[in-house]
Amino acid sequence: MDFRPTESQEMIAQTVRDFADKHIRPFIMEWDEAQKFPIDLFKKMGELGIMGVLVPEEYGGAGLSYFEYVTAISELAKVCGSIGLSMAAHNSLCTGHILAFGNEEQKQKYLPKLATAEFIGAWGLTEANTGSDAMRMRCVAKEDGDYWVINGSKNWITHGISGDVAVVLARTGELLDSKGITAFVIERGTPGFKAGKKENKLGMRASETAEMIFEDCRVHKSQVLGKVGDGFKQAMKVLDGGRISIAALSIGIAKGAYEASVKYSQEREQFGQPISNFQAISFKLADMATQIEAAELLTLQAADLKNRGEAMTKQSAFAKYYASEVAVRCATESVQIFGGYGYTKDFPVEKYYRDSKLCTIGEGTSEIQKLVIARNILNE
Ligand SMILES: Cc1cc2nc3c(=O)[nH]c(=O)nc-3n(C[C@H](O)[C@H](O)[C@H](O)COP(=O)(O)OP(=O)(O)OC[C@H]3O[C@@H](n4cnc5c(N)ncnc54)[C@H](O)[C@@H]3O)c2cc1C
Repeated sequence: MDFRPTESQEMIAQTVRDFADKHIRPFIMEWDEAQKFPIDLFKKMGELGIMGVLVPEEYGGAGLSYFEYVTAISELAKVCGSIGLSMAAHNSLCTGHILAFGNEEQKQKYLPKLATAEFIGAWGLTEANTGSDAMRMRCVAKEDGDYWVINGSKNWITHGISGDVAVVLARTGELLDSKGITAFVIERGTPGFKAGKKENKLGMRASETAEMIFEDCRVHKSQVLGKVGDGFKQAMKVLDGGRISIAALSIGIAKGAYEASVKYSQEREQFGQPISNFQAISFKLADMATQIEAAELLTLQAADLKNRGEAMTKQSAFAKYYASEVAVRCATESVQIFGGYGYTKDFPVEKYYRDSKLCTIGEGTSEIQKLVIARNILNE
């Protein structure tokens, strides 16, 4: 495998960097403090083509590969983790689910709107009592003629309020039956579907996270994605791809923290010299650089398998697990390198520190990644 970025990756990296410098960097603390989800920004990102990176051109997307996708998320996350997270959830969860499992009619109906960000996408698996243990979900869908009637709620959903369309997993069979869960695509405004509480978060504050509530919500049978009972299997496949995007998000955050640390350590003087002269500091930078490089290689490996359409559950778990832990380590060390200044909101590293923690939790915690890896190793 050639590890050098392709021309297309370099082009997308430059485009996203220029966009982020102009439209994101000046506003990140304002959005973070107000917990504002900047929806207009996502419309602009739609015009830029990065809200449908993986969507084929025939459905109005950019038709690019996971390499370009990973590059775009990392470049966004280097500037603001929240924007990277929302972009990732929109692309690989909601859009990715419809792209992989929707029928032609559903793809024609939703993908062009998602690819241009005319529609913002949400994806609801998690509930208040079932996160890692998603199979125990309580949100139910009961058949009623040509409709399914959905009752229950989904929690921690990215774009739970602003999402125009949501892919929702609900129980259509027995508890703990892996064939007892079905995926539905539901539009905002469908009677019985409303948004609930918005979470007040530690980090990723400009990415909206909220509850979605379903009360006798009638959804036509044409809104089922794939086969009834296939929802859990589909969700696990979608998460395999989604985990590559959280690895990319993690790499962006880690690189942002690292680059700020390199610069600051060469400018900040103590004991009459730049702090980068102290081995205690330069070794931190060496560790950060090495770990970021390793995280990138794991992520490229998973992206390569995904591009080829090969099995990559273990490799995407490797990438997600390792890269997310690296993001937390790099962000933590960057605050240490900045000393007292790192503990203030005048410098960027406290935000990397807060944002990074989501990466070890969302789309399967580090513990769950280890479980996935261990199961794969032991069943090989
Ligand atoms: C900002 C944000 C955005 C999110 N966006 C979405 C979204 O768009 N859609 C969506 O569906 N969900 C979303 N989530 C939910 C996220 O995927 C869950 O939070 C995550 O899967 C963990 O579930 P939980 O929070 O219920 O933790 P729990 O499952 O309760 O886990 C608590 C702790 O127990 C550990 N644990 C649990 N089971 C095991 C086990 N078998 N072995 C070892 N340790 C275990 C976990 O690792 C963790 O440390 C989001 C969450 C956040 C914070």
